[in-house]
Amino acid sequence: MTSHPLAYAARAARFRPSGVRSVFDIAMRPGMISLAGGSPDLSVLPREQVAELAAGMIRGAGPDALQYQPAQGLDGTIEAIREVMRAEGVDAAHDRIQVTAGSQMGLQVLTTLLADPGDTVIAEAPTYVGALSVFGGLEARVAQVEIDEHGMLPDALEATIARVRATGSRIPFLYTVPTFGNPSGASMSAARREAVVELCRREGILIVEDNPYGMLAFDDEHRLPLYARDPENVVYLGSFSKIFSPGVRVGWLAAPPELRGRVQLAVEAMTIHASVVGQVLAQRFITETDWRGHVRRSADVYHARRDALMAALDEHMPPGTTWTRPHGGFFTVVTLPPGTPVDGLLDAAIDARVVYVPGSEFMADGSRADTLRLAYSFEPEHRLAEGARRLGEAIRALG
Ligand code: PMP
Repeated sequence: MTSHPLAYAARAARFRPSGVRSVFDIAMRPGMISLAGGSPDLSVLPREQVAELAAGMIRGAGPDALQYQPAQGLDGTIEAIREVMRAEGVDAAHDRIQVTAGSQMGLQVLTTLLADPGDTVIAEAPTYVGALSVFGGLEARVAQVEIDEHGMLPDALEATIARVRATGSRIPFLYTVPTFGNPSGASMSAARREAVVELCRREGILIVEDNPYGMLAFDDEHRLPLYARDPENVVYLGSFSKIFSPGVRVGWLAAPPELRGRVQLAVEAMTIHASVVGQVLAQRFITETDWRGHVRRSADVYHARRDALMAALDEHMPPGTTWTRPHGGFFTVVTLPPGTPVDGLLDAAIDARVVYVPGSEFMADGSRADTLRLAYSFEPEHRLAEGARRLGEAIRALG
């Protein structure tokens, strides 16, 4: 057998190992406490009931669940998605919804359709690392806009739009996680939502709203998705990953019908359609279980874990350290006091058997090395507390 060196396409170099993936492997080591990956806790799932649904799916739907199906998604799954969206206060028509293999694929498809190489996507600073991978892979640039605990600052957004346009680069869309952001945990206030939607409409910039965490609130505040405010200029990305199971790989997008049709063509080219087995299971989870009760119980678990982590950070972080206090979702961002040595901190933490994701992963320019993303979604409370203790020790040991 001859072995030739593979001649990769130039874009292959743009798919680099993500820091999140490598810490994911480290998180699996025995004795390691993981504040890294944003995995949902599946222990509250009604496992027997889901097992019944899965068995019944094959026995009942049989060939239909195992056959090729329409590329938009199964009608029943789309109706289940509409029910989930109604629970968030959004009424999206059937022909606006496209089922995807997770919302990650929805973002990949949208970026493929909307962004040419050299275009500049605008996003929050910091933003979802998986979105940065999509934008980078498709050779788009990224301009990140300052946020505070109420989300994106409209004035900073306006200034960024002007700055990008002055360079001659086109802006294909604004990408935002407005509710319980990954990694920030921040949520846009109602006033900010209105201002951002209004500004983007005025500037002719499409908004891509990524909302996997919106239903996992720790309070009663209703955070109406941007999509409900301007369905003609906002594309909504939704997912079953955090409210049911990430392993089923079923997400969706809601978009104006013309764009939705284009998305379907791209989905057909990439995967033909999302997994039918996953779609049927997700659909049956919505139609045949108390899914709202499940989401409420999940949110209660994450709420208690947030409290446990915050209390432990209070106890163990060096004076001058700050962190965000999310009202839902999975994550907080910790900012170390100025002057704290950060080189080698991740290694020191891993030696102390705790792992997190460096904040620089969430910045296109790799800045913010003095920040850390901590996830409280996966570990139980006593381990979150111990993780924060080990982390505090690792920080002090370097100082
Ligand atoms: N967007 C955000 C903000 C996320 O946090 C995640 C998952 N970590 C995704 C998208 C991807 O979700 P999915 O499993 O639906 O592809």
